[in-house]
Amino acid sequence: MSEFIVFGRPAVGRDEIDEVIATLESGWLGAGPRVVRFEEQFADFKGVPPDQVAAVSSCSAALHLSLLAAGIGPGDEVITTPLTFCATANAILHAGATPVLADVDPLTLNIDPAAIERKLTPKTRAILPVHLAGLPCDMNSILTTAREHDLVVIEDCAHAIETQYQGRGAGTIGDYGAFSFYPSKNITTGEGGMVVARNSECIQRIKIKSHNGLSSDAWKRFADAGHNHYLVTDCGYKYNMTDLQAAIGIHQLRRIDANWERRRNIWQDYQARLAHLPVQHPAGAGEGDRHGLHLYSMLLSDDVIRDLPRDTLMARLQARGVGSGVHYLALPEHPYYQQNLNWSPEDTPVATAAGRRTLSIPLSADLRPEEVDRIIDVLCSELA
Ligand SMILES: *Cc1c(COP(=O)(O)O)cnc(C)c1O
Repeated sequence: MSEFIVFGRPAVGRDEIDEVIATLESGWLGAGPRVVRFEEQFADFKGVPPDQVAAVSSCSAALHLSLLAAGIGPGDEVITTPLTFCATANAILHAGATPVLADVDPLTLNIDPAAIERKLTPKTRAILPVHLAGLPCDMNSILTTAREHDLVVIEDCAHAIETQYQGRGAGTIGDYGAFSFYPSKNITTGEGGMVVARNSECIQRIKIKSHNGLSSDAWKRFADAGHNHYLVTDCGYKYNMTDLQAAIGIHQLRRIDANWERRRNIWQDYQARLAHLPVQHPAGAGEGDRHGLHLYSMLLSDDVIRDLPRDTLMARLQARGVGSGVHYLALPEHPYYQQNLNWSPEDTPVATAAGRRTLSIPLSADLRPEEVDRIIDVLCSELA
């Protein structure tokens, strides 16, 4: 049998490998010149000044630091989507605040602005939308609500590095944007993340917080020989990115547009050649917007699921060499939130139904044409 097609396989080239080796040989493995270079390149890609970005260890850290920089803490409520990775809600809990779920739109599967309005209370301090799969949220409505109620907007851009909404890059529309470079994301640094903030003083605070609270002149002198006294100015976290990670990211960013084009070809193949299947295909971006094309997630119809439960289908695909994913089971399906926040799947019925029917098939830029053919053939024969 041909090789197993892993879901979310990263596209890593020779340049990344050579840069990692060069980093090891340079003797500087921690946060240093390559992190600075990666930040500059990322800022350039997003069209923001370099003092408005901070490279960190993950998107989870980026979300946590954004919430802290926004002054959100105990007693505050943050409205977010139930159809996301757990890190989105966990970051709110780590900040000491309370996550409040607003259900999603049944077509876009992004947070529904009307549902946000219904969840506002005097304690609401922020909205944390997720551009699911790379499809931009309805940011105009979200910003209008935020302005009316003086709320901070933090965009979870884990799927949305390339996403554009009405000419603006995802993560630069609200007050903060949090990005992920986990191996399965659109670009990777092994593990890693980035914060983009409109306010460069917030970025300065975030950088200090990500280096255990050390004053910036301490960790900035990475190239100096000799001893420097450092001063602790905040009770921070160990959330910084390292040069080993940035070495990978520098070359990933150089191929970001070419990889997006490759995923667009695969996406168009799926749309054309899977059109006849009894599924709801993913929504496309609106006029003038750009989809980040992170996930190709379909909703299986009730007719399919009656005879072939989603998880059985996944097992069959797996047996035939095709990895797949679920993005996501709605957060209230998980025991931690049921037990500690009293959430129940019925509270967000649209997200719950979508989470039980959704199936993501591989969309990596690394897929070879014959692998795309095989994914399509296997899926068509299982769902025929
Ligand atoms: C992957 C992901 C995260 C967390 O990213 P890490 O870099 O792994 O911490 C957060 N939100 C969403 C929507 C994600 O998919």
